[in-house]
Amino acid sequence: MNRPIDMIIEGGRVVTGGAVSEATILISGETIVGVVAPGTLVVGSENAERLDASRKIVIPGVIDAHVHLDSYSGHADSFASLSTAAAFGGVTTMIPYIQGKVGMPVKEFLGNMREEGEAQSLIDFAMHCRLNAPERGGHAPFDDAFDAGVTSFKVFMAYRKRGIMWDDYNLFEALEYIGQRGGVFCCHAENGDVIDYLEDKFAAQGRYTPENFADVRPPEAEAEATFRVLTIAKLARCPLYLVHMSTGEAIALAHQARLTGQQVWTETCPQYVTLTNEEMTRQGGLAKIAPPLRERCELESIWRAAADGSVNTVGSDHAAWPWNNKSLPNEKFPEIVFGMPGVETMLPLMFSEGVAKNRIDLPKLVELLCEAPARIFGLAPKKGVIAVGADADLVLIDPEREWRIEGKDMHSLAGYTAHEGWTIRGKPATTVLRGRVMVQEGRLMQTAGFGRYLPRSIRG
Ligand SMILES: [Zn+2]
Repeated sequence: MNRPIDMIIEGGRVVTGGAVSEATILISGETIVGVVAPGTLVVGSENAERLDASRKIVIPGVIDAHVHLDSYSGHADSFASLSTAAAFGGVTTMIPYIQGKVGMPVKEFLGNMREEGEAQSLIDFAMHCRLNAPERGGHAPFDDAFDAGVTSFKVFMAYRKRGIMWDDYNLFEALEYIGQRGGVFCCHAENGDVIDYLEDKFAAQGRYTPENFADVRPPEAEAEATFRVLTIAKLARCPLYLVHMSTGEAIALAHQARLTGQQVWTETCPQYVTLTNEEMTRQGGLAKIAPPLRERCELESIWRAAADGSVNTVGSDHAAWPWNNKSLPNEKFPEIVFGMPGVETMLPLMFSEGVAKNRIDLPKLVELLCEAPARIFGLAPKKGVIAVGADADLVLIDPEREWRIEGKDMHSLAGYTAHEGWTIRGKPATTVLRGRVMVQEGRLMQTAGFGRYLPRSIRG
């Protein structure tokens, strides 16, 4: 070995590639240059910084492929606050959904937000392109995104009333082109017209309230749209990534399609496996998300799907809105925006509720949060694994630490959390990004702008 070793992480249980083993990680510059047996004599390590990982679990830095920040959208978090919250939560790479104002060219909003990210982000980031309603211009918006290193797209099958729903004609046309270019289509699958009708009906009866919210967006609306987009994506030969899946039925439909050879992946979120629709009565607008929180039986069926491989990834769907947008009185419940913060609590919740409660094992946790998102979104083999040649992005988890989740301690500008007061087990103690300690024992060690933009090439 001829490169000097700059950092050595020793004594920990290292989880990667489906295995857990005691190992020492050697880092030179930004890169992992060795994963060796404990006690191995390492030449050229005299000046290395040593991180003691004894009694800790070492996993690859988490990739949160589903976050939202203020890109002309009014979200509470900027690149700065979102990436800070992420770093404290063990997330070293994020992929926010970037959108523009109506009519703003793709090149402009992706360019602006890339600049903002490069100036502000603590952690590495890529971007998804979220398009508003279909516009004239044919393939130009897609081409501009590919040119900017953005290869994944989101449009909505819901929200006709907000003017951003894509009907099947437009969807098919877009998917055919994304597929041809080697991109990925990220889909929010809910039947928009069914939901719009139910919203109107419940509102007219004065029943569009927190208690009835789950019935306004029923599981069937998710299953139907999932089946439809699976069919369209199959015809269009477009790889499909289904975001924030909240029902066992829709996940099973996607898994069935995968078994027949279709390129499809499913993502769920910590909130769908930790909270039920009872939170609507308790928390009202704060817990208003779409798809909605479901019955307890769905929660357990998604855990089973995560364990058996029919769910592929976990993303936070972090969507923090200013408190006054989420805390309107109940009579204004229909106006409350969808979304909740979650980037900082994703890994802790999945560890505590998943691994510590034996619903998933450590290799599965790492597959869901690190390996699979890196592969699907073209960030592998640099990201998502602990291996020679990969970026030295790592999280040291203290598996025994018990702590309380409190909104006031979170680093998102939301200032609240739907998991307020939860006592959980396991905490990310140290986060390392490209060989530099980002967070250590609750202290931030890097400054804004350390994060790097990751342009993506087309999936092979
Ligand atoms: Zn989202």
